[in-house]
Amino acid sequence: MRPNLPTLGGPPKRNPFGPVVAVSVILGAAAGGVWWWKQRMADVPMDVASQSVTAQDAGTLAQAPAAPPVPTDPVKAAGLERASIRIEGPLETALVQATGAEVGPALAQVVTRTLVWWVRVPGEILRGDTLDVLFQRRPNEEPLVYAVRFVSGKTGQTHRAYRFQPAGETNARYYVPGGDELELRMEHSPIDSYEQITSLLRDGRGHKGVDFRAPVGTTIRAPFAGVIKRKNWNFGSNGNCIELVESGGKGRRALFLHLAELPRTVQAGMRVSTGQVLAQSGNTGHSFAPHLHYQLMLGENRVLDPFDQHKTFRASLVASQKATFEAEVQRLDGLLGTSVAGK
Ligand SMILES: [Zn+2]
Repeated sequence: MRPNLPTLGGPPKRNPFGPVVAVSVILGAAAGGVWWWKQRMADVPMDVASQSVTAQDAGTLAQAPAAPPVPTDPVKAAGLERASIRIEGPLETALVQATGAEVGPALAQVVTRTLVWWVRVPGEILRGDTLDVLFQRRPNEEPLVYAVRFVSGKTGQTHRAYRFQPAGETNARYYVPGGDELELRMEHSPIDSYEQITSLLRDGRGHKGVDFRAPVGTTIRAPFAGVIKRKNWNFGSNGNCIELVESGGKGRRALFLHLAELPRTVQAGMRVSTGQVLAQSGNTGHSFAPHLHYQLMLGENRVLDPFDQHKTFRASLVASQKATFEAEVQRLDGLLGTSVAGK
């Protein structure tokens, strides 16, 4: 039931350049000798000297102190970071190793939201798979992922997804090369619009529903014709909530949790038709961010996957947006570079 969004604020971040700097300092000392140290201590202001330097900075200082400014790392210049890993164990462990304990766990969660559209997580992420991620750290928020490139032993393919906000759209979404959305959409969707699906049944977290991240107040609709069975039970955990039982047919049950305050008209026994407005999404109960938890059940205990139960389709960018998207793909591909974790 709980969205289990990343908790930010772990132990202090480790300096990923530490070992590299150490090596280049040794090389630099060998090449430039004591002179290098004198130059460095004399020329570099204290505030800069106290910061960590990259291997490139240290190397350039050692060889050519009078040279023009060091060319900036394009990934850094774009305000991003890159993580390149090869899977040898759990995804989170590898990302923590690559990016530090502060951002790694949250980054693993955000990246998983793209991987689940290609393979089952964690079972189908295999030893030897490689992953390249472009992301941005944000204070008190989960990192923003701009691009994911995943080489899968399970599918034998290289999968890619890019964050892109089409002109006129409220939300950025993830698209694959060619301009199709990464995520599938549901026909008779329980929610009109949303930013991202942040949890699926197949993401390995034992979660029983699909979480749609959406601003409070987004329209929630009946995915099938049925009767409202109950509302607002287990309020502390579920917040405002509705259970809808399908009329006739399969007799499925749909649960909608963490809603905004329900209209008085929503009462047990109320009949609704497919697509009828039921409520608005909210952030009530055990919820860490505005979202809808949508869960389908059969009988007492059988949990159904909404992506099996609904007909699905994949939306595409409109033609007028494709050139802009392709330019963004090229930019991000340039920043992703060649996979250093690759073969
Ligand atoms: Zn949920």
